[in-house]
Amino acid sequence: RIVYVNGAYRPETEAKVSVFDRGFLFADAVYEVTAVIGGKLIDFPGHCARLRRSLAELGLPSPATDDEILAIHRELVSRNALELGHVYLMVTRGEADRDFVFPKADTPPSFVLFTQRRDAIETREAEQGLKVASVPDLRWGRRDIKTVQLLYPSMAKMEAKRKGKDDAWFVENGTVTEGTSNNAYIVTHDGAIRTRALGHDILHGITRAALLKVAGELGLHVEERPFTIEEAQGAREAFVTSAGAFVTPVVEIDDVAVGDGRPGPIARRLRAAYLDVAIAEAL
Ligand code: PLP
Repeated sequence: RIVYVNGAYRPETEAKVSVFDRGFLFADAVYEVTAVIGGKLIDFPGHCARLRRSLAELGLPSPATDDEILAIHRELVSRNALELGHVYLMVTRGEADRDFVFPKADTPPSFVLFTQRRDAIETREAEQGLKVASVPDLRWGRRDIKTVQLLYPSMAKMEAKRKGKDDAWFVENGTVTEGTSNNAYIVTHDGAIRTRALGHDILHGITRAALLKVAGELGLHVEERPFTIEEAQGAREAFVTSAGAFVTPVVEIDDVAVGDGRPGPIARRLRAAYLDVAIAEAL
């Protein structure tokens, strides 16, 4: 693979970041993941806008303009002949002697991008649906900033795997916040799409924004409010969205089947409609 590091395209074995990088020492870094389908970038303007917001919230310097960031994505897709997969982007506060105090504002950020390939759009999870296990949401209070502090989500996913499930849903004060790396939804018995409203407690998913638009266009009623695990278990359908999963049905929550325990028609329809629009608008 050819990866991008601080202005240069290099073979991955030759790409290096300092041991004093604050991304490494303090998780002082933000990231984005943009899907690639047919060699084109899905929802790129949304990912770029969210990156700007994450950088601003943490006072991280901007590594490049939007046009430059788009050009780097395209160059990496091209150099790696990537048809299907995603581009990972990360910006850290750069290299400085280890200190809780931020380094001088003119410290250059570290800027890294690489590609990851996938075999098919339709994964086993998309076809069969996910089984999820609930875990307490013990993450920090600014989950709207896309930082690389992914240890707890990673531990939660491992806990779910130990139970024989595919993923974990976080629960805080009795309601579901989101999945380890996706936003969570239910379809109510009235046929409404319900998902938690935006705030500091969840990541503002780019796929979420696109999905809610598509749902509205399909004439589905959207309710932005929280739901409990019991409400999700008793819902007509459940699903998650992310740049990696697109729209993926959830068929079991804490050992209880959702609906008939198979991917539901609304999640299926939303997945197809989301992908149609996203592919048509891909850059
Ligand atoms: N929520 C969390 C915690 C995530 O990590 C992600 C994606 O990585 C999402 C939601 C979905 O966001 P997006 O649709 O922008 O990929």
